[in-house]
Amino acid sequence: MHFHANICPISVISINNQELIALEILQNMADYLGDNNKRQVHDLLNQKENCQIDEIMIVHKRYFIPDTFTQANSEGYDSCI
Ligand SMILES: [Zn+2]
Repeated sequence: MHFHANICPISVISINNQELIALEILQNMADYLGDNNKRQVHDLLNQKENCQIDEIMIVHKRYFIPDTFTQANSEGYDSCI
């Protein structure tokens, strides 16, 4: 777990405030972020220029339990690298 100052764009109005807050907390704590549009998983501790985390739409963001690459990979997400 770590914290980073990655504020997601608040442009989706189809989810309620509570869900949005939960998403922001998750985004600030997770080590791995999945993009279920591209089926890619990003290592938030080692973001690359190509990751463009800020460009991933809220509805495409996925987090993993446990928060590991192995878990993401087992759910069909490939490394973005
Ligand atoms: Zn990435």
